[in-house]
Amino acid sequence: MTAITVYDGNDTIGGNKIYVEENGKGLFLDFGANLHNYDKFFQPYIQPRAYRGIHDLWLLNLIPHLNIYRKDLIPIDLDVTSAPKLDIKAVLLSHVHMDHYGNIGFLDENIPVVASSFTFSLLKGLQDSYTPNAGSEVIYINKRKPHPPDERLLTRGDNYGRDLIATDSYNENLEHFLWQASRKRGGIEKGELSLLKESDLPFSVTPYETDHSVYGSIAYILEGEHSIAYTGDIRLHGEREMQSKHFIDSAKNSEILIIEGTRLTGENIFDSENVVLDYCRRAIDISKGLVIADFSNRNLERLELFKQIASKTNRQLIIAARDAYLLYALEIVDMVDHLEDILVYHRPMTRPPFWETSILQDKKRPNYITNEDIKDNPDGYILCFSFGDVMNFLDITPVRGIYIYSSPGAFKTEQEFDFIRLNRWLKSYGIRPYGFKIDKVKGRERPSFTRGFHASGHASENELEWIIDRIDPDIIIPVHTENLDWFREHFKDKAKILKKGEKLNL
Ligand SMILES: [Zn+2]
Repeated sequence: MTAITVYDGNDTIGGNKIYVEENGKGLFLDFGANLHNYDKFFQPYIQPRAYRGIHDLWLLNLIPHLNIYRKDLIPIDLDVTSAPKLDIKAVLLSHVHMDHYGNIGFLDENIPVVASSFTFSLLKGLQDSYTPNAGSEVIYINKRKPHPPDERLLTRGDNYGRDLIATDSYNENLEHFLWQASRKRGGIEKGELSLLKESDLPFSVTPYETDHSVYGSIAYILEGEHSIAYTGDIRLHGEREMQSKHFIDSAKNSEILIIEGTRLTGENIFDSENVVLDYCRRAIDISKGLVIADFSNRNLERLELFKQIASKTNRQLIIAARDAYLLYALEIVDMVDHLEDILVYHRPMTRPPFWETSILQDKKRPNYITNEDIKDNPDGYILCFSFGDVMNFLDITPVRGIYIYSSPGAFKTEQEFDFIRLNRWLKSYGIRPYGFKIDKVKGRERPSFTRGFHASGHASENELEWIIDRIDPDIIIPVHTENLDWFREHFKDKAKILKKGEKLNL
């Protein structure tokens, strides 16, 4: 008997936690952080307390009430034993976005994770170079221990690698990198890395590479008593469009389609990566002074795009060290030198992090560039920075230039304030923004976003319709969307809208 339960991500964008089971044994399709719901309670200074394990998220109902979590993250004053248990054989992770992987770290350490080798390598890079948070401990977990005399508090302990199952073949470098110590006293006890083909799961699982805004994105087709296709996040207008189409063709016999619907809310601008290339190129062509390009550091396809523009406009690309580390992670898998012709910004810092000095510099010796070098020749560079890097303006002191915002617009009111602040920084250095502008609406400053400088990682309404028609499933389960009505209206008899935690028995 097959059943599907959507524990989260049923009516929000992100936080996907979809459980599929066959005769009592199951797989999670993603186990992401529901950032939409996190935002209802948290802001940068109000965050779940790391030393309380899963306590805070559990009490705020931000993770499903199930008895499936790491024991070391359950403090003595939290009882989860009366919650239902699940026999989870693995998590099938679609890609490296927090709203898909950000809660995997909480899961029992014996549950392996399935993903592409790109995904594993990028996750290791991120886990090393960002502030650790138990939820995103996918590659290795830091086992917490109670902190006497107050046993409710948890402190950091030793690192253990989780068992990982790759959807594609991998080399020895990856195995070495995954368990390589990234902190001075942070050795990692090895986990096991194996190939999906050789693993024993409750369904026969076939991975398909897809097109999304991060490399290594995977859609899955599961075959058991019934066949289930899961898109993950998908689009048809980037570099890997053909891969997405191959998945869609292969999913034609699937009875159940679990599909994202991110872009069904709000404006439906259709721009492709080619349009972005065109707009950014033109803006840079007509500009003098420093060019700053702002995009997600995981969007390595966009980085390639700016690298291409740089070489055509006689500029050199400069990235932050943490981004260089992600490119190094990519190289571990595909053995291509992604740092070739790229400079790394040498930020003033008293003690550079261990991953930078002992892994990145040891292996790559990146070409560093200082604020003085940039000051001397501002027309020679494209600097890949985001709002979080603006403090460096105080050292670089640009006198003119442009700032290309190449990411999605602000969804929340608080984010709007960031753009107002960013605009102030740009104004004081004579830098012209592209991709967004600030207008006065009824005496109040508000940002608006101009098209052409960003292409979405998600399928447009037309693309979604095309995907569904082509696969022609018997049942459609929408996830990762705020517009369930669209599915109800367009696919009346087939759309199955599941409530949070509702089980669909097939
Ligand atoms: Zn995504």
